[in-house]
Amino acid sequence: MRLLIKNIKTLAGIVPLEVLRLEGSQMNSAQQIDDAFLVAEDGIITRFGKMEELGSVEADEVVDAEGRVVFPAFCDSHSHIVYAGSREGEFRDKIAGMTYEEVAARGGGILNSADRLAEASEEELFEAAKRRAWRMIRSGAATLEVKSGYGLTTESELKMLRVIRRLQEELPATIKATFLGAHAVGRAYKGRQSDYVECVCQEMIPAVAEQGVAEFVDVFCDRGFFTPEETAGILECGKRYGLRPKIHANELASSGGVQVGIKYGALSVDHLEEANEQDVLDLKNSSTIPTVLPGASFFSNLPFAPARRMIDEGLAVAIASDCNPGSSPSGNMMLLWSLACIKMRLTPEEALSALTINGAAALGLSADRGAISVGRRADLVVSKPVPSLAYLPYSFGEELVEQTIIGGVKVDMR
Ligand SMILES: [Zn+2]
Repeated sequence: MRLLIKNIKTLAGIVPLEVLRLEGSQMNSAQQIDDAFLVAEDGIITRFGKMEELGSVEADEVVDAEGRVVFPAFCDSHSHIVYAGSREGEFRDKIAGMTYEEVAARGGGILNSADRLAEASEEELFEAAKRRAWRMIRSGAATLEVKSGYGLTTESELKMLRVIRRLQEELPATIKATFLGAHAVGRAYKGRQSDYVECVCQEMIPAVAEQGVAEFVDVFCDRGFFTPEETAGILECGKRYGLRPKIHANELASSGGVQVGIKYGALSVDHLEEANEQDVLDLKNSSTIPTVLPGASFFSNLPFAPARRMIDEGLAVAIASDCNPGSSPSGNMMLLWSLACIKMRLTPEEALSALTINGAAALGLSADRGAISVGRRADLVVSKPVPSLAYLPYSFGEELVEQTIIGGVKVDMR
């Protein structure tokens, strides 16, 4: 199967195959080609360049991208799209002035979602998550990470992970599963946090590993949730069972999450709204990717993570959606592109690098995706006609993805 995309106004996000992440000033300088073509065979990019170099190419599928920008499909490295119901009641509470922690202390938040998930059938959860995943694919994502964490019992956590496995089997996107049993303390363990941590380590992680339903282990390491010491114990246990750490850190306070993540070789530390100067410097001396979640800051009216500062310090920043029912009920990466530019002061090119190759790196997948290179997967977005690349984040809220292509195949956009 050969795909040819011709007459591309701008082909963006070109990175050499051997480069696995873009750091600091590199994030602004991924190459672009105007008036370009791209050829993919059996899902892999085999050629690209200026139209004048194309020559005659026969293809099974030809896309005429005149006036359109083509860029690597988004890699969303942090989401929670398996959930039951929605939480617009809390949306009202937050508008009226309640904080995230007050909502959680009142039994709302994550525990609210856990109650609803326990009542939902696996089929209902799957159908709802599938609809959300398709929305994300149609807004330009080809790789999604999905977490458990609304189960909070061994049985319900496994139920969520089975739903994620079904998404992996039935959707065209690549989907990676993360076990997040330590998202909050389950209701049955109220007031007994250390017993719950023990359950995560002794019961949940061995069961998850035995069933082979997750690749990563995550912990909500933050003020009012799990301490760095508890996080260390869970990460250590996860590593024994072959689960690589990716953790939630420093959303509510600079709580030591960054340092514990680095110490245990986390692929990424995510959130970082409250990251301080020391956190940034510690990340600089590590290979852990800082992943920022501007949708969560926007929706929850929290500070934005210091992504500008991190890039100026030479870090490889990734951006993900955090799509979840409580603090970021959108998985639209185009909107995040705008927020990263508007609220974090990233250039359109820096933000695109954060949403693509660095997102892939935060999942350990950037060797074969996240950028335009001969040899990488043809996971691509064809925009609607636009004046330039910068128009894509500039015209925020406008639906500008015309076609998502995954593995060299146009997905159904209806
Ligand atoms: Zn999250």
